[in-house]
Amino acid sequence: MTAALVAASEGLRTLLIEKSPQIGGTTARSSGTVWIPDNPQQHRIGITTDATSAVTYLDALVDGRADPKLRQAFVAAGPKMLRYLETHTGVRFQIYRHHPDYRQDLPGAAAGGRPLEPVPFDGRTLGKDFSNVRWPIPEFMLLGGMMVTRGEAVRLQSFAGSLDSLWLGIQLVTRYCFDRLSHPRGTRLVLGNALAANLYKNLLERNADIWLEGRTSRLIKHEGRACGLAVDRNGKQLKVRAKRGIVLAGGGFPASGPWRERYLPKPVAQYTAAFEGCNGDTLQLALDAGAAIGPPCQDNALWFPSSIAQRADGSTAVYPHIVLDRPKPGLVAVNGAGKRFVNEAISYHEFTRAMYASHRTVPTIPAWLVCDRQFLWKYGLGMIRPLSFGFVLKPHIAGGYLKVASTLAELAGKIGVNADGLIATVNANNTYAQSGVDEEFGKGDNIYEQGNGDALHKPNPCLGPIQAPPFYAVAVFPTPLGTSLGLSANEESQVLDSSGNPIPGLYCCGNDMNSILAGEYPGAGAQIGPAMTFGYLAAMHAAGEARPEST
Ligand SMILES: Cc1cc2nc3c(=O)[nH]c(=O)nc-3n(C[C@H](O)[C@H](O)[C@H](O)COP(=O)(O)OP(=O)(O)OC[C@H]3O[C@@H](n4cnc5c(N)ncnc54)[C@H](O)[C@@H]3O)c2cc1C
Repeated sequence: MTAALVAASEGLRTLLIEKSPQIGGTTARSSGTVWIPDNPQQHRIGITTDATSAVTYLDALVDGRADPKLRQAFVAAGPKMLRYLETHTGVRFQIYRHHPDYRQDLPGAAAGGRPLEPVPFDGRTLGKDFSNVRWPIPEFMLLGGMMVTRGEAVRLQSFAGSLDSLWLGIQLVTRYCFDRLSHPRGTRLVLGNALAANLYKNLLERNADIWLEGRTSRLIKHEGRACGLAVDRNGKQLKVRAKRGIVLAGGGFPASGPWRERYLPKPVAQYTAAFEGCNGDTLQLALDAGAAIGPPCQDNALWFPSSIAQRADGSTAVYPHIVLDRPKPGLVAVNGAGKRFVNEAISYHEFTRAMYASHRTVPTIPAWLVCDRQFLWKYGLGMIRPLSFGFVLKPHIAGGYLKVASTLAELAGKIGVNADGLIATVNANNTYAQSGVDEEFGKGDNIYEQGNGDALHKPNPCLGPIQAPPFYAVAVFPTPLGTSLGLSANEESQVLDSSGNPIPGLYCCGNDMNSILAGEYPGAGAQIGPAMTFGYLAAMHAAGEARPEST
């Protein structure tokens, strides 16, 4: 949608083709954070030297496994993309001042400022087209349809019972109640839903053509140039001619069983929180037209550890454990031996990689998040929100999502892990909680982890005792939030063939583009940031070809 919006703003006639009945894909389900170093919002608060340290950071992170030109192009063009959107469109972001990069162990990691979040969007401004915006994941909404930002969730969670929390709650719920008089869900959109809806609105305002329920099924080439698409729509196959360019942005293959089987590590992930339409369709049509894939990344995916449950309507809920529980004090993640295998507070991507690494020697898929009643009440666990009374827990226990026991040995039996191992792990955790030092994994040692812990908890915001029965556990599984293996592309987003030459007229971005960071995850927003940047670059390249001075 960014590519389409930039193309439309550049005066090109633009067609957006979406195969499902609603726009937004995984982006609409996401937190919508974009990781863009050296961004205009940083400049406005006086940080003007971020580009160099960002390159240092990315170089250290990627460690020679991807073409440096791609990440240099990203660092150079990301701020231009944001400025372009600010100048020519209504798409806006605000800075996360305190959102540290994930790999604080690497040179150039920042304490904040690189991630930006979409500003809230009023869905009412879309009129009847509001229904064309994909819904967020139900478990990420409150009261069945109300969205809150991550900051609001933290305020509601950490100051539960305080005046601040009460006032925020009253404001949000009042607006939501009014919304529900006329809409099936809240119209105050935040996170990725705000981003998708805002891009959509801007496209509509520019009279871009938008085809819903149109599936691109074949690429048409003429004399080596991609010049059109076959689109299945309303039971017919239509042919669309593209004068300037085609941008593939089908969201990779996180939702395709066969593609996951072929490219992801074993045991193969069975679930994903990504949109089910992201099933490799657009990758396949590019491959059929001579495009190249890769090079492969470490595990070809970006990961969340997620818990799985069945919803009341029979559908499967995939709940990503992003930051709300794992880094909080009083939780351990254990494998089949009842042992910790990871620093629970590290990024979701590295946490899941550690599950795979541990699974090579000890069953760790699923891994178990273990806590006590105090933790569950204060911070919640996965789909169980903080301040949940016993009657709220009951269906989760009955459905098998939440395991509960009055002793650790009994809990170990219920979740099938070694009891002595689990008791020893919890004893060690309780010692670390007192000293504030995790002697095994260093949990809570850096600002990223501390920021996601509980600032009011001392001496270490990420380390707390597990001692007040009953004890609880939830299973987590590796689930791709997106895929990092995609089409080989250059700095202009042009898709390359197997000889490394651009296929004229063909571009890609998002998860359809091979990760410019070899599948590494520098910080929050590291998927959508590059996706929008390379979407912008694709559109500008196509528009540039249209300009007489550059042809
Ligand atoms: C819960 C969650 C939270 C996340 N939070 C963040 C975050 O805050 N920041 C971040 O950077 N990343 C985040 N991610 C990852 C990020 O959302 C995705 O990597 C990103 O949105 C993918 O964008 P995309 O444009 O490639 O694909 P999408 O946004 O998924 O869009 C692809 C669209 O293409 C359509 N499509 C596919 N094939 C065809 C076809 N043949 N014809 C027509 N249409 C087709 C699909 O239906 C879909 O609508 C999150 C992921 C999840 C699951």
